[in-house]
Amino acid sequence: MKRPDVIIVGAGSAGCVTARRCAELGLKTLLLDRKPLKEVGQKVCGDEVSKAHFEATGIDYPDGDEISYAIAGADVYPPNRMNALNVRGWAEFDGWTVNRLSFGQRLLNEAISAGAKFLPNIHVGSPMTLGDQVTGVEYKDLKSGDSVVVKSKVVVDASGFAAVIRNKLESPLIENDIDKEDIALCYREILRLKMPLAEPEVARVFLGGEAAPQGYAWVFPKGVQEINAGVGITGGKGRGSPKSHFMKFKETYPLFFGSKLIDGKGGAVPVRRPLKSLVGDGVAFVGDAALQVNPIHGGGIGAGMRAGIILGEVVRESIASRNFSANGLWSYNTRYLPNFGKRLASLEIFRRFLQAVSDEDMDFGFEKRLLEADDLMAANRGDGLSLSMADKMRRVKRGAGKISLLLKLQKAAGLMKKMNKAYSNYPNNPDNLDIWEKTVLGIVESASFE
Ligand SMILES: Cc1cc2nc3c(=O)[nH]c(=O)nc-3n(C[C@H](O)[C@H](O)[C@H](O)COP(=O)(O)OP(=O)(O)OC[C@H]3O[C@@H](n4cnc5c(N)ncnc54)[C@H](O)[C@@H]3O)c2cc1C
Repeated sequence: MKRPDVIIVGAGSAGCVTARRCAELGLKTLLLDRKPLKEVGQKVCGDEVSKAHFEATGIDYPDGDEISYAIAGADVYPPNRMNALNVRGWAEFDGWTVNRLSFGQRLLNEAISAGAKFLPNIHVGSPMTLGDQVTGVEYKDLKSGDSVVVKSKVVVDASGFAAVIRNKLESPLIENDIDKEDIALCYREILRLKMPLAEPEVARVFLGGEAAPQGYAWVFPKGVQEINAGVGITGGKGRGSPKSHFMKFKETYPLFFGSKLIDGKGGAVPVRRPLKSLVGDGVAFVGDAALQVNPIHGGGIGAGMRAGIILGEVVRESIASRNFSANGLWSYNTRYLPNFGKRLASLEIFRRFLQAVSDEDMDFGFEKRLLEADDLMAANRGDGLSLSMADKMRRVKRGAGKISLLLKLQKAAGLMKKMNKAYSNYPNNPDNLDIWEKTVLGIVESASFE
């Protein structure tokens, strides 16, 4: 394929779904990844993906060996690991832990079957540009050692956290300086347990504490006697390595005693609102490269797949109208950000709230049920936290002595509402982006709960 319509850099879940949609719509689609063919899909991850994302996109559910285990429910623990919230019927979370390699290979095969041309062992070095317009990519074939330039109408950066295209572009529309506090550094292990799990369908989440300062630890079942467990902490202010925190967690949590290590690796994931613009001139961003990740639990598989479907359709429209500028691609922003994107943005506020609550207050809040399972579910759905007057009174009664915690919760609820509103008013063209961005940054700045 000498002159593709669209080049997609990265064949992770977001890149494969985008490539499939572009190819289905008749575009000449070139998908590139530095991995060998048989390793595409492999990824250090918690492996959990909810059913809701498949229902929203029409992508087939995981099946057969793509599924490690079906997940229904989560127990959320405060730092002292007592008084867990037992969240059940959480439609936005329930789904599966998947075998990332098999699942990723299926997504790749679907893109290839739809007509995308896939080249493995390709290291993309940088975008080609003409002024601000991205016109193609320069890559190195890792097998032959050849350096190659390929031109296209649109380039999609789906290279994950590395964001190899985005990080090399300079334009007022494009953000490439992501705050370390908005990045979760993670370490996870796949472990074979000594004993079967009592509730193998229930995920466990542990907030704060020594195990996960300013973050959380997880135990996601991969089978009756196998788990994916890890720790994610935000990257700023020298908080130590996630691996060292995980090791402490392992030493103090009896479930791990006598377990056998199958695999242990680290990774990073952005936990911020999505990029202010998902497009530039001749370029678009999807998946982790676009910061499309749930800021409270770091789930990005579904958020990126949802975006990939929209992006494929927008690239098709921009090519049909021969307008590959940021303006021509803008409807990717207006279709994603005021919808699923707004949920991610308001969850950034909730993340900031959770991070600011001391361990002692968090333990108290769980004990007195100042934070309820419904709050977590509503916040995650993007409905915000709706604290009615009666609701507030009940909680004030339960939380007498820790009014400051309730006030923080109320402040978070208000800011989440504001963020939702700002995203519903996302500008229809690039000209008004600056004003909109100021509003959003103002809300983020107010989200200090110290
Ligand atoms: C420890 C951890 C736990 C997580 N747990 C969960 C979870 O339980 N559920 C969930 O939904 N999400 C989870 N996430 C997040 C999730 O893994 C990501 O959001 C998701 O995989 C992002 O998909 P992507 O396609 O954007 O990027 P990736 O899957 O990272 O794919 C990017 C692709 O680009 C390729 N690439 C990169 N650079 C180049 C280059 N220069 N040239 C060519 N190719 C390149 C890579 O080889 C890769 O194949 C977790 C993340 C981490 C780190």
